[in-house]
Amino acid sequence: MSNPQIRVRIAPSPTGNLHVGTARTALFNWLFARKNNGKFILRIEDTDIERSEEKYVQNIYDSLKAIGLNWDEGPDTGGDYAPYKQSGRTEIYDKYAKKLVESGNAYYCWCSQEELDSEKEQAQQEKKDFIYSGKCKKLPPEETKKYIQQGRNPVIRFCMPSRKLKFSDMIKGEIEFDTALTGDFVIMKSNGTPTYNFAVVVDDAEMKISHVIRGEDHISNTPRQILIYEALGLEAPRFAHVGMILAQDRSKLSKRHGATAVSEFIDQGYLPEAFVNFLALLGWSPPDEQEIKPLNEIINLFNIDKISSTPAVFEFDKLNWLNGSYIRNLPVEDITERARKYLKEYDLSSYSEEQLQAIVDAVRNNLVRLSEVRDSVSYFFGEDVDIEDEIRENILKTDQSRKILSEFTGLAGNFDYLDTEKIHEQLGEFRKQMKPLKPKDVMWAVRTALTGRTHGADLALVISLLGRDRVIKRVQNAITASV
Ligand code: GLU
Repeated sequence: MSNPQIRVRIAPSPTGNLHVGTARTALFNWLFARKNNGKFILRIEDTDIERSEEKYVQNIYDSLKAIGLNWDEGPDTGGDYAPYKQSGRTEIYDKYAKKLVESGNAYYCWCSQEELDSEKEQAQQEKKDFIYSGKCKKLPPEETKKYIQQGRNPVIRFCMPSRKLKFSDMIKGEIEFDTALTGDFVIMKSNGTPTYNFAVVVDDAEMKISHVIRGEDHISNTPRQILIYEALGLEAPRFAHVGMILAQDRSKLSKRHGATAVSEFIDQGYLPEAFVNFLALLGWSPPDEQEIKPLNEIINLFNIDKISSTPAVFEFDKLNWLNGSYIRNLPVEDITERARKYLKEYDLSSYSEEQLQAIVDAVRNNLVRLSEVRDSVSYFFGEDVDIEDEIRENILKTDQSRKILSEFTGLAGNFDYLDTEKIHEQLGEFRKQMKPLKPKDVMWAVRTALTGRTHGADLALVISLLGRDRVIKRVQNAITASV
Protein backbone atom coordinates (compact mmCIF):
# COMPACT_ATOMS: atom_id res chain seq x y z
CA MET A 1 0.00 0.00 0.00
CA SER A 2 1.31 3.42 -0.78
CA ASN A 3 2.42 5.55 2.12
CA PRO A 4 0.95 9.01 1.54
CA GLN A 5 3.36 10.56 3.98
CA ILE A 6 6.57 9.74 2.18
CA ARG A 7 7.12 12.01 -0.80
CA VAL A 8 10.64 12.65 -2.04
CA ARG A 9 11.97 14.31 -5.13
CA ILE A 10 14.96 14.90 -7.32
CA ALA A 11 15.19 18.40 -8.69
CA PRO A 12 17.89 18.59 -11.34
CA SER A 13 18.67 21.71 -13.33
CA PRO A 14 18.75 21.00 -17.06
CA THR A 15 22.01 22.84 -17.61
CA GLY A 16 23.99 19.73 -18.54
CA ASN A 17 23.62 15.98 -18.92
CA LEU A 18 22.60 14.10 -15.78
CA HIS A 19 25.67 14.10 -13.54
CA VAL A 20 26.65 11.00 -11.58
CA GLY A 21 26.27 12.94 -8.33
CA THR A 22 22.69 13.87 -9.16
CA ALA A 23 22.02 10.32 -10.31
CA ARG A 24 23.28 8.95 -7.00
CA THR A 25 21.06 11.43 -5.12
CA ALA A 26 18.15 10.40 -7.33
CA LEU A 27 18.88 6.77 -6.55
CA PHE A 28 18.89 7.31 -2.77
CA ASN A 29 15.60 9.22 -3.02
CA TRP A 30 14.11 6.53 -5.22
CA LEU A 31 15.25 3.74 -2.88
CA PHE A 32 13.83 5.60 0.11
CA ALA A 33 10.50 6.02 -1.67
CA ARG A 34 10.31 2.45 -2.93
CA LYS A 35 11.36 0.96 0.40
CA ASN A 36 8.71 2.96 2.26
CA ASN A 37 5.97 2.74 -0.36
CA GLY A 38 6.20 6.45 -0.89
CA LYS A 39 6.29 8.58 -4.02
CA PHE A 40 9.33 9.65 -6.04
CA ILE A 41 8.89 12.92 -7.91
CA LEU A 42 10.91 14.44 -10.71
CA ARG A 43 10.97 18.22 -10.82
CA ILE A 44 12.94 20.16 -13.38
CA GLU A 45 14.55 23.29 -11.95
CA ASP A 46 14.83 25.36 -15.09
CA THR A 47 14.70 28.86 -13.68
CA ASP A 48 18.13 29.61 -15.11
CA ILE A 49 16.66 30.42 -18.50
CA GLU A 50 19.96 31.10 -20.21
CA ARG A 51 21.64 27.84 -19.28
CA SER A 52 18.65 25.49 -19.32
CA GLU A 53 18.11 23.47 -22.49
CA GLU A 54 15.44 21.02 -23.58
CA LYS A 55 18.06 18.52 -24.77
CA TYR A 56 19.32 18.26 -21.18
CA VAL A 57 15.76 17.69 -19.92
CA GLN A 58 15.59 14.78 -22.36
CA ASN A 59 18.98 13.52 -21.19
CA ILE A 60 17.76 13.58 -17.59
CA TYR A 61 14.68 11.52 -18.52
CA ASP A 62 16.69 9.06 -20.60
CA SER A 63 19.46 8.60 -18.05
CA LEU A 64 17.11 8.06 -15.11
CA LYS A 65 15.08 5.58 -17.13
CA ALA A 66 18.22 3.80 -18.32
CA ILE A 67 19.33 3.12 -14.75
CA GLY A 68 15.86 1.95 -13.78
CA LEU A 69 14.65 4.93 -11.75
CA ASN A 70 11.01 5.54 -12.63
CA TRP A 71 9.13 8.51 -11.20
CA ASP A 72 5.54 8.71 -10.02
CA GLU A 73 5.03 12.37 -10.85
CA GLY A 74 6.97 14.57 -13.22
CA PRO A 75 6.80 16.93 -16.20
CA ASP A 76 6.09 14.12 -18.65
CA THR A 77 3.90 11.94 -16.44
CA GLY A 78 1.95 14.72 -14.75
CA GLY A 79 0.52 14.46 -11.23
CA ASP A 80 -1.59 16.31 -8.70
CA TYR A 81 0.94 19.10 -8.26
CA ALA A 82 1.70 19.96 -11.89
CA PRO A 83 3.44 21.74 -13.48
CA TYR A 84 6.68 19.97 -12.55
CA LYS A 85 8.93 22.37 -14.41
CA GLN A 86 9.73 25.56 -12.55
CA SER A 87 9.42 27.65 -15.71
CA GLY A 88 5.69 26.91 -15.65
CA ARG A 89 5.24 27.93 -12.02
CA THR A 90 5.95 31.68 -12.11
CA GLU A 91 2.52 32.68 -10.82
CA ILE A 92 2.90 30.37 -7.84
CA TYR A 93 6.23 31.96 -6.86
CA ASP A 94 4.72 35.42 -7.34
CA LYS A 95 1.87 34.57 -5.02
CA TYR A 96 4.18 33.34 -2.26
CA ALA A 97 6.60 36.26 -2.67
CA LYS A 98 3.72 38.72 -2.28
CA LYS A 99 2.56 36.87 0.79
CA LEU A 100 6.00 37.34 2.33
CA VAL A 101 6.05 41.03 1.43
CA GLU A 102 2.59 41.53 2.92
CA SER A 103 3.51 39.78 6.15
CA GLY A 104 6.66 41.93 6.46
CA ASN A 105 9.00 39.01 5.89
CA ALA A 106 10.26 40.30 2.56
CA TYR A 107 10.65 43.66 0.85
CA TYR A 108 11.32 45.22 -2.53
CA CYS A 109 14.89 46.28 -3.02
CA TRP A 110 15.66 48.85 -5.70
CA CYS A 111 19.41 49.00 -5.29
CA SER A 112 21.29 49.20 -8.55
CA GLN A 113 24.30 47.05 -9.29
CA GLU A 114 26.54 50.10 -8.75
CA GLU A 115 25.07 50.70 -5.30
CA LEU A 116 25.58 47.08 -4.34
CA ASP A 117 29.12 47.10 -5.73
CA SER A 118 29.98 50.12 -3.65
CA GLU A 119 28.63 48.39 -0.51
CA LYS A 120 30.76 45.37 -1.40
CA GLU A 121 33.83 47.54 -1.88
CA GLN A 122 33.32 49.20 1.47
CA ALA A 123 33.06 45.81 3.17
CA GLN A 124 36.26 44.79 1.46
CA GLN A 125 38.04 47.89 2.68
CA GLU A 126 36.85 47.19 6.21
CA LYS A 127 37.93 43.56 5.75
CA LYS A 128 34.43 42.32 6.49
CA ASP A 129 32.24 39.82 4.64
CA PHE A 130 29.70 41.59 2.49
CA ILE A 131 26.23 41.52 4.01
CA TYR A 132 23.60 43.63 2.30
CA SER A 133 22.87 46.69 4.44
CA GLY A 134 19.09 46.32 4.20
CA LYS A 135 18.71 49.95 3.27
CA CYS A 136 15.61 49.32 1.10
CA LYS A 137 13.79 47.64 3.96
CA LYS A 138 12.23 50.78 5.31
CA LEU A 139 12.04 52.91 2.21
CA PRO A 140 9.70 55.92 2.40
CA PRO A 141 6.93 55.72 -0.26
CA GLU A 142 8.25 58.76 -2.16
CA GLU A 143 11.61 57.02 -2.64
CA THR A 144 9.84 53.99 -4.02
CA LYS A 145 7.88 56.23 -6.37
CA LYS A 146 11.08 57.81 -7.59
CA TYR A 147 12.59 54.44 -8.43
CA ILE A 148 9.47 53.36 -10.26
CA GLN A 149 9.61 56.57 -12.30
CA GLN A 150 13.26 55.88 -13.07
CA GLY A 151 12.11 52.57 -14.56
CA ARG A 152 14.02 50.43 -12.11
CA ASN A 153 12.92 46.85 -11.63
CA PRO A 154 13.14 45.75 -8.01
CA VAL A 155 14.23 42.43 -6.60
CA ILE A 156 12.49 40.99 -3.55
CA ARG A 157 14.64 40.28 -0.53
CA PHE A 158 13.86 38.07 2.40
CA CYS A 159 14.25 39.65 5.86
CA MET A 160 16.79 37.46 7.54
CA PRO A 161 16.23 37.31 11.28
CA SER A 162 19.37 37.29 13.30
CA ARG A 163 19.50 34.19 15.45
CA LYS A 164 20.96 30.76 16.01
CA LEU A 165 19.19 28.10 13.98
CA LYS A 166 19.44 24.39 14.61
CA PHE A 167 18.18 21.49 12.58
CA SER A 168 18.56 17.79 12.82
CA ASP A 169 19.86 16.21 9.64
CA MET A 170 19.00 12.54 9.11
CA ILE A 171 22.54 11.81 7.93
CA LYS A 172 24.72 14.55 9.38
CA GLY A 173 23.06 14.89 12.79
CA GLU A 174 22.57 18.22 14.59
CA ILE A 175 23.61 21.25 12.56
CA GLU A 176 23.72 24.79 13.89
CA PHE A 177 23.96 28.07 12.00
CA ASP A 178 24.22 31.74 12.88
CA THR A 179 21.81 33.39 10.47
CA ALA A 180 23.20 36.86 11.18
CA LEU A 181 26.02 36.01 8.82
CA THR A 182 23.75 35.75 5.82
CA GLY A 183 21.98 39.08 5.36
CA ASP A 184 18.76 39.72 3.49
CA PHE A 185 18.98 37.58 0.39
CA VAL A 186 17.15 37.86 -2.91
CA ILE A 187 14.17 35.59 -3.42
CA MET A 188 12.79 37.08 -6.64
CA LYS A 189 15.11 38.50 -9.26
CA SER A 190 14.36 41.73 -11.13
CA ASN A 191 13.36 39.71 -14.21
CA GLY A 192 10.55 38.11 -12.20
CA THR A 193 12.14 34.68 -11.78
CA PRO A 194 12.64 33.16 -8.33
CA THR A 195 16.05 32.28 -6.91
CA TYR A 196 16.82 28.66 -6.11
CA ASN A 197 16.39 28.98 -2.32
CA PHE A 198 12.92 30.44 -2.68
CA ALA A 199 11.60 28.30 -5.52
CA VAL A 200 12.76 25.11 -3.86
CA VAL A 201 10.81 25.91 -0.69
CA VAL A 202 7.65 26.89 -2.55
CA ASP A 203 7.81 23.77 -4.70
CA ASP A 204 8.69 21.37 -1.90
CA ALA A 205 5.87 22.82 0.21
CA GLU A 206 3.30 22.79 -2.61
CA MET A 207 4.30 19.30 -3.67
CA LYS A 208 4.09 18.07 -0.06
CA ILE A 209 7.65 16.79 -0.03
CA SER A 210 8.26 15.00 3.26
CA HIS A 211 12.02 14.39 3.03
CA VAL A 212 14.65 16.33 1.16
CA ILE A 213 17.55 14.02 0.41
CA ARG A 214 20.30 15.84 -1.47
CA GLY A 215 24.03 16.56 -1.70
CA GLU A 216 25.81 18.11 1.25
CA ASP A 217 26.73 21.10 -0.91
CA HIS A 218 23.21 22.28 -0.06
CA ILE A 219 23.67 22.27 3.73
CA SER A 220 24.54 25.96 3.73
CA ASN A 221 21.27 26.71 1.89
CA THR A 222 19.17 24.85 4.41
CA PRO A 223 18.90 27.57 7.11
CA ARG A 224 17.60 30.07 4.53
CA GLN A 225 15.06 27.53 3.37
CA ILE A 226 13.95 26.68 6.91
CA LEU A 227 13.43 30.39 7.65
CA ILE A 228 11.29 30.79 4.52
CA TYR A 229 9.14 27.85 5.65
CA GLU A 230 8.76 29.49 9.03
CA ALA A 231 7.86 32.85 7.54
CA LEU A 232 5.22 31.21 5.37
CA GLY A 233 3.84 29.34 8.36
CA LEU A 234 4.66 25.99 6.74
CA GLU A 235 6.22 22.90 8.21
CA ALA A 236 9.69 22.18 6.82
CA PRO A 237 10.46 18.68 5.49
CA ARG A 238 13.10 16.47 7.09
CA PHE A 239 16.53 17.02 5.61
CA ALA A 240 19.14 14.40 4.79
CA HIS A 241 22.42 15.57 3.28
CA VAL A 242 24.51 12.96 1.56
CA GLY A 243 28.33 13.21 1.49
CA MET A 244 29.86 14.30 -1.81
CA ILE A 245 31.42 12.06 -4.41
CA LEU A 246 35.14 12.59 -4.71
CA ALA A 247 37.58 11.41 -7.35
CA GLN A 248 40.35 9.04 -6.36
CA ASP A 249 42.72 11.97 -5.77
CA ARG A 250 40.15 13.24 -3.22
CA SER A 251 39.26 16.30 -5.27
CA LYS A 252 35.75 16.99 -6.50
CA LEU A 253 34.82 14.57 -9.30
CA SER A 254 35.08 16.55 -12.52
CA LYS A 255 35.56 16.17 -16.25
CA ARG A 256 39.31 16.02 -15.89
CA HIS A 257 38.85 12.62 -14.19
CA GLY A 258 36.92 11.28 -17.19
CA ALA A 259 33.21 10.89 -17.78
CA THR A 260 30.86 12.59 -15.31
CA ALA A 261 27.48 12.13 -16.99
CA VAL A 262 25.48 8.93 -16.68
CA SER A 263 24.91 8.86 -20.46
CA GLU A 264 28.65 9.04 -21.12
CA PHE A 265 29.27 6.00 -18.94
CA ILE A 266 26.51 4.09 -20.67
CA ASP A 267 27.81 5.06 -24.12
CA GLN A 268 31.23 3.84 -23.07
CA GLY A 269 29.83 0.39 -22.46
CA TYR A 270 28.96 0.37 -18.77
CA LEU A 271 25.79 -1.62 -18.29
CA PRO A 272 23.04 0.43 -16.62
CA GLU A 273 22.50 -2.33 -14.02
CA ALA A 274 26.17 -2.36 -13.11
CA PHE A 275 26.32 1.41 -13.04
CA VAL A 276 23.33 1.82 -10.75
CA ASN A 277 24.68 -0.94 -8.49
CA PHE A 278 27.95 1.00 -8.34
CA LEU A 279 26.13 4.27 -7.56
CA ALA A 280 24.33 2.61 -4.65
CA LEU A 281 27.69 1.68 -3.16
CA LEU A 282 28.83 5.30 -3.15
CA GLY A 283 27.93 6.08 0.42
CA TRP A 284 25.88 3.00 1.26
CA SER A 285 26.89 -0.61 1.80
CA PRO A 286 24.73 -3.71 1.98
CA PRO A 287 24.47 -5.30 5.43
CA ASP A 288 25.70 -8.65 4.08
CA GLU A 289 28.67 -7.00 2.34
CA GLN A 290 27.77 -8.71 -0.93
CA GLU A 291 28.33 -5.77 -3.22
CA ILE A 292 26.95 -7.19 -6.43
CA LYS A 293 23.25 -6.64 -6.03
CA PRO A 294 20.46 -5.88 -8.46
CA LEU A 295 18.36 -2.82 -7.75
CA ASN A 296 15.29 -4.79 -6.63
CA GLU A 297 17.35 -6.46 -3.89
CA ILE A 298 18.87 -3.17 -2.82
CA ILE A 299 15.38 -1.72 -2.22
CA ASN A 300 14.70 -4.15 0.61
CA LEU A 301 18.11 -3.70 2.21
CA PHE A 302 18.28 0.06 1.87
CA ASN A 303 18.21 2.09 5.04
CA ILE A 304 18.72 5.84 4.97
CA ASP A 305 20.29 5.80 8.45
CA LYS A 306 23.09 3.71 7.04
CA ILE A 307 24.17 6.30 4.48
CA SER A 308 27.66 7.47 5.24
CA SER A 309 28.07 11.08 6.25
CA THR A 310 31.58 11.25 4.83
CA PRO A 311 32.44 11.67 1.15
CA ALA A 312 32.43 8.63 -1.11
CA VAL A 313 35.30 7.94 -3.48
CA PHE A 314 34.51 7.15 -7.09
CA GLU A 315 36.76 4.17 -7.78
CA PHE A 316 36.96 3.37 -11.47
CA ASP A 317 38.51 -0.02 -10.68
CA LYS A 318 35.47 -0.98 -8.68
CA LEU A 319 33.11 0.18 -11.41
CA ASN A 320 35.13 -1.84 -13.93
CA TRP A 321 35.05 -4.91 -11.72
CA LEU A 322 31.29 -4.65 -11.24
CA ASN A 323 30.70 -4.07 -14.93
CA GLY A 324 32.82 -7.06 -15.91
CA SER A 325 30.86 -9.17 -13.49
CA TYR A 326 27.50 -8.09 -14.93
CA ILE A 327 28.81 -8.69 -18.47
CA ARG A 328 29.82 -12.23 -17.53
CA ASN A 329 26.60 -13.06 -15.73
CA LEU A 330 23.79 -11.67 -17.86
CA PRO A 331 21.92 -14.27 -19.94
CA VAL A 332 23.79 -14.75 -23.19
CA GLU A 333 20.81 -13.70 -25.34
CA ASP A 334 20.59 -10.46 -23.42
CA ILE A 335 24.27 -9.55 -23.55
CA THR A 336 24.38 -10.41 -27.26
CA GLU A 337 21.43 -8.15 -27.93
CA ARG A 338 23.13 -5.29 -26.10
CA ALA A 339 26.45 -5.95 -27.83
CA ARG A 340 24.84 -5.40 -31.24
CA LYS A 341 25.07 -1.65 -30.96
CA TYR A 342 28.86 -1.94 -30.88
CA LEU A 343 29.00 -4.37 -33.79
CA LYS A 344 27.43 -2.24 -36.48
CA GLU A 345 30.57 -2.24 -38.60
CA TYR A 346 30.43 -6.02 -39.08
CA ASP A 347 28.25 -8.07 -41.39
CA LEU A 348 26.39 -9.93 -38.69
CA SER A 349 24.20 -11.69 -41.23
CA SER A 350 27.10 -14.06 -41.93
CA TYR A 351 26.24 -15.80 -38.66
CA SER A 352 23.07 -17.24 -37.19
CA GLU A 353 21.74 -15.79 -33.91
CA GLU A 354 23.07 -18.84 -32.11
CA GLN A 355 26.51 -18.43 -33.62
CA LEU A 356 26.59 -14.75 -32.75
CA GLN A 357 25.68 -15.63 -29.16
CA ALA A 358 28.47 -18.19 -29.10
CA ILE A 359 30.93 -15.52 -30.28
CA VAL A 360 29.87 -12.98 -27.66
CA ASP A 361 29.83 -15.66 -25.00
CA ALA A 362 33.34 -16.73 -25.95
CA VAL A 363 34.84 -13.26 -25.55
CA ARG A 364 32.79 -11.76 -22.73
CA ASN A 365 34.96 -13.07 -19.90
CA ASN A 366 37.67 -10.58 -20.66
CA LEU A 367 35.52 -7.53 -21.23
CA VAL A 368 35.55 -4.64 -18.82
CA ARG A 369 33.25 -2.45 -20.87
CA LEU A 370 30.81 -3.85 -23.36
CA SER A 371 32.12 -1.51 -26.08
CA GLU A 372 35.33 -3.57 -26.07
CA VAL A 373 33.35 -6.37 -27.69
CA ARG A 374 33.86 -4.60 -31.03
CA ASP A 375 37.58 -5.26 -30.93
CA SER A 376 37.35 -8.63 -29.20
CA VAL A 377 35.28 -10.22 -31.96
CA SER A 378 36.92 -8.54 -34.96
CA TYR A 379 38.72 -11.69 -36.17
CA PHE A 380 35.42 -13.51 -36.56
CA PHE A 381 34.57 -11.16 -39.41
CA GLY A 382 36.15 -10.64 -42.82
CA GLU A 383 38.25 -12.97 -44.86
CA ASP A 384 41.68 -12.03 -43.61
CA VAL A 385 43.00 -10.95 -40.30
CA ASP A 386 45.41 -8.21 -39.30
CA ILE A 387 48.51 -9.48 -37.59
CA GLU A 388 50.50 -6.96 -35.59
CA ASP A 389 54.16 -6.62 -36.60
CA GLU A 390 55.33 -7.61 -33.18
CA ILE A 391 53.36 -10.84 -33.19
CA ARG A 392 54.45 -11.62 -36.72
CA GLU A 393 58.13 -11.12 -35.82
CA ASN A 394 58.10 -12.92 -32.49
CA ILE A 395 55.70 -15.76 -33.09
CA LEU A 396 55.13 -16.44 -36.74
CA LYS A 397 58.60 -15.78 -38.14
CA THR A 398 60.21 -18.77 -36.49
CA ASP A 399 61.14 -22.12 -38.01
CA GLN A 400 59.03 -23.78 -35.37
CA SER A 401 55.91 -21.85 -36.30
CA ARG A 402 56.43 -22.38 -40.00
CA LYS A 403 56.62 -26.10 -39.33
CA ILE A 404 53.51 -26.08 -37.13
CA LEU A 405 51.50 -24.12 -39.65
CA SER A 406 52.45 -26.19 -42.65
CA GLU A 407 51.42 -29.32 -40.76
CA PHE A 408 48.24 -27.59 -39.67
CA THR A 409 47.29 -26.85 -43.28
CA GLY A 410 46.73 -30.56 -43.78
CA LEU A 411 44.47 -30.76 -40.74
CA ALA A 412 42.54 -27.66 -41.83
CA GLY A 413 41.07 -29.56 -44.72
CA ASN A 414 39.85 -32.31 -42.41
CA PHE A 415 38.19 -30.61 -39.46
CA ASP A 416 34.65 -31.50 -38.61
CA TYR A 417 33.64 -27.87 -38.91
CA LEU A 418 30.11 -28.30 -37.61
CA ASP A 419 31.16 -30.06 -34.43
CA THR A 420 33.20 -28.03 -31.95
CA GLU A 421 33.68 -31.01 -29.63
CA LYS A 422 35.17 -32.98 -32.47
CA ILE A 423 37.48 -30.08 -33.35
CA HIS A 424 38.69 -30.10 -29.75
CA GLU A 425 39.64 -33.73 -30.13
CA GLN A 426 41.29 -33.14 -33.47
CA LEU A 427 43.34 -30.30 -31.99
CA GLY A 428 44.34 -32.61 -29.14
CA GLU A 429 45.61 -35.18 -31.62
CA PHE A 430 47.43 -32.48 -33.52
CA ARG A 431 49.26 -31.41 -30.38
CA LYS A 432 50.34 -35.00 -29.78
CA GLN A 433 51.45 -35.37 -33.35
CA MET A 434 53.61 -32.24 -33.05
CA LYS A 435 55.58 -33.54 -30.05
CA PRO A 436 58.21 -32.83 -28.83
CA LEU A 437 57.04 -29.27 -29.54
CA LYS A 438 55.28 -27.84 -26.55
CA PRO A 439 51.43 -27.97 -26.84
CA LYS A 440 51.26 -24.35 -25.81
CA ASP A 441 53.58 -23.23 -28.62
CA VAL A 442 51.61 -25.28 -31.11
CA MET A 443 48.37 -23.61 -30.12
CA TRP A 444 49.93 -20.17 -30.09
CA ALA A 445 51.13 -20.45 -33.64
CA VAL A 446 47.71 -21.63 -34.82
CA ARG A 447 45.86 -19.01 -32.83
CA THR A 448 47.97 -16.11 -34.07
CA ALA A 449 47.65 -17.29 -37.66
CA LEU A 450 43.86 -17.50 -37.39
CA THR A 451 43.12 -14.54 -35.17
CA GLY A 452 46.16 -12.27 -35.28
CA ARG A 453 46.25 -12.40 -31.49
CA THR A 454 47.80 -14.37 -28.69
CA HIS A 455 44.59 -14.56 -26.63
CA GLY A 456 40.92 -14.86 -27.38
CA ALA A 457 37.99 -17.18 -27.76
CA ASP A 458 38.20 -20.94 -27.54
CA LEU A 459 40.18 -22.07 -30.60
CA ALA A 460 37.84 -24.90 -31.56
CA LEU A 461 34.97 -22.42 -31.64
CA VAL A 462 37.04 -20.01 -33.73
CA ILE A 463 37.85 -22.77 -36.23
CA SER A 464 34.27 -23.93 -36.39
CA LEU A 465 32.88 -20.44 -36.96
CA LEU A 466 35.52 -19.31 -39.45
CA GLY A 467 34.85 -22.44 -41.53
CA ARG A 468 37.09 -24.37 -43.82
CA ASP A 469 37.86 -21.77 -46.49
CA ARG A 470 38.82 -19.00 -44.12
CA VAL A 471 40.88 -21.27 -41.88
CA ILE A 472 42.90 -22.53 -44.85
CA LYS A 473 43.26 -19.07 -46.29
CA ARG A 474 44.41 -17.47 -43.04
CA VAL A 475 46.93 -20.21 -42.31
CA GLN A 476 48.35 -19.91 -45.80
CA ASN A 477 48.57 -16.15 -45.49
CA ALA A 478 50.38 -16.54 -42.21
CA ILE A 479 52.86 -18.95 -43.78
CA THR A 480 53.50 -16.57 -46.66
CA ALA A 481 53.92 -13.65 -44.28
CA SER A 482 56.32 -15.54 -42.08
CA VAL A 483 59.02 -16.06 -44.70
N1 GLU B 1 18.56 22.07 -8.60
C1 GLU B 1 19.27 21.78 -7.39
C2 GLU B 1 20.48 20.93 -7.70
O1 GLU B 1 20.46 20.22 -8.69
C3 GLU B 1 18.36 21.05 -6.41
C4 GLU B 1 18.86 21.03 -5.04
C5 GLU B 1 17.88 20.46 -4.04
O2 GLU B 1 17.68 19.25 -4.09
O3 GLU B 1 17.35 21.21 -3.25
O4 GLU B 1 21.47 20.99 -7.03
